[in-house]
Amino acid sequence: PFRQRLLVVANRLPVSAVRRGEDSWSLEMSAGGLVTALLGVKEFEARWIGWAGVNVPDEIGQKALSKALAEKRCIPVFLDEEIVHQYYNGYCNNILWPLFHYLGLPQEDRLATTRSFQSQFAAYKKANQMFADVVNAHYEEGAVVWCHDYHLMYLPECLKKYNSKMKVGWFLHTPFPSSEIHRMLPSRSELLRSVLAADLVGHFVSACTRILGLEGTPEGVEDQGRLTRVAAFPIGIDSERFIHALKLPQVQEHIKELKERFAGRKVMLGVDRLDMIKGIPQKILAFEKFLEDNPSWRDKVVLLQIAVPTRTDVPEYQKLTSQVHEIVGRINGRFGTLTAVPIHHLDRSLDFHALCALYAVTDVALVASLRDGMNLVSYEFVACQEAKKGVLILSEFAGAAQSLGAGAILVNPWNITEVAASIGQALNMPAEEREKRHHHNFKHVTTHTAQEWAETFVSELNDTVVEAQLRT
Ligand code: UDP
Repeated sequence: PFRQRLLVVANRLPVSAVRRGEDSWSLEMSAGGLVTALLGVKEFEARWIGWAGVNVPDEIGQKALSKALAEKRCIPVFLDEEIVHQYYNGYCNNILWPLFHYLGLPQEDRLATTRSFQSQFAAYKKANQMFADVVNAHYEEGAVVWCHDYHLMYLPECLKKYNSKMKVGWFLHTPFPSSEIHRMLPSRSELLRSVLAADLVGHFVSACTRILGLEGTPEGVEDQGRLTRVAAFPIGIDSERFIHALKLPQVQEHIKELKERFAGRKVMLGVDRLDMIKGIPQKILAFEKFLEDNPSWRDKVVLLQIAVPTRTDVPEYQKLTSQVHEIVGRINGRFGTLTAVPIHHLDRSLDFHALCALYAVTDVALVASLRDGMNLVSYEFVACQEAKKGVLILSEFAGAAQSLGAGAILVNPWNITEVAASIGQALNMPAEEREKRHHHNFKHVTTHTAQEWAETFVSELNDTVVEAQLRT
C-alpha cells in the first residue's frame, strides 16, 4: 500500500550514539512518547532528521554513523562544535528558551549577550540552512515535512526557498510569548516571517499581528496574499505504554519495594529537568511551609524530587543546582530525624520502569512550573494512577492546566502559602473525591494521546495544502 513520506525534523535525533571505533558506532534509541508517536503513525513512512548529539569531524565516521542510523530510519545533520556552541548553547538555549518562558533575555552579562547576539543569530541561520540541505536531499514529491520547535524557526523559509511546493508544518513545543516579550528579540520580525513561510503552524497569531502588522483571522495569518494556517494542537503521551509497563513483573516488584520503603508515610513526587522554568525552589519552599504549619505531618510525609540534570555547562543552571541543594539541605536539617529526612532530592534521571513504579506509588504529585509548554510528567503520573487514584497539584502556568484543570488542584507556584495549603488539601482528600478527580484526568490522558496528536497535525497539514491549491 502507498504510504506518504513524512520527514520529521528536530534538533536532536531520538538516539544516543557512542563511537566504538573508526567506522563503528553503537546506537540506542530513546523511546520517548514523541518518538513512539511519530514513528508509530501507520499511514506514513516516517524518517527522522536531526543532529546526533556528537561531533564527527571525519568522513569515515560520518559515513559509518549515517549507515547505522539509516537502519533506525534516522538521517543525521552534522554540526561542528563551534556551530553547536553558538547555535544550540547560545541562540537556542541562552536566548530563545528563557525568552519564550518569560524569563527575559539572560540577566547575567547582559551586555556580552547583546554583543554576541548577531554572531549567534548568524550561526542559528547557518545551522537551520544545514538542516534544510539535508531535508531537501531526502525530499520526494508528495512528502510532508514536519519541523519541530524553537531550534528550527528559520527552517520553513529555507525549505520554501528550495521548493515552494514542499508541504511544510512547524510545531512549537514550548509556549510562545506574548508580543510584548517577543518584541525584545533583535531578530523578532525575521524569525516570525520565516515561520510564516510554513503552510501550517501550531499557534502564535497575536505576535504576528502586533509585530508584523499582519491580518490575523480565525483561520490563520495572511502575508502578501499567502495564508498560513495557525492552530493549537495539544500534545499527549503514549498512555498504553505506561499502563502496560505497570503490569510487568519487574515493575510490580519495584512497586512492592517502594511501598515497603515508605510504609507509614505518604509519598509526594516531583519529576523535572533541573530547569529554571520548573519552579523547583518554589515547590520545595512550599513543602517547607506545609511542614512548618503542620507539625503532625512531619514524620508522615516524604517528598521525592527527581531533578534530571540538564544544560549543565550553562552557568545559570549551575547556579540553580546549588541553590536547590542549599534549600534542600536546610529543610532536611530543620525537619529531619536520626532515621528519616523529609526530602529525598536526586540529581539524576531514572529509567522508564523505575519512573513508572514511582508514579504508581505516589500519593500526591506536585508540578510547580513557572511556565511550561504542556508538562508531560503530569500526564504520565495520571496514566500510572489507576490503582492508587492519587492527587495532582498542578501549576496554572503549565499547558496541562488547560486539559487536566478539572481533575487537578490548580495553584499559582509563586504563592507559597497557597501551594502549602493545597498540599494539605491533597493529603487529606477523601477517597471519593480523589476517585472522581482521577477518573476525569485519566479519561483525558488515555483519549488525547501522542498518536492522535501526530495524526491530527499531519492530516491538517495535508488538508491545508489542498485548500490552498483550490484557492489559487
Ligand atoms: N523523564 C525521563 N527520565 C527521568 C525523568 C523524566 O525520561 O528520569 C521524562 C519524562 O518521562 C517525560 C520527560 O522526561 O516524558 C519530561 O517531559 P515534560 O514535558 O514534563 O518536560 P520537559 O523536560 O520536556 O520540559
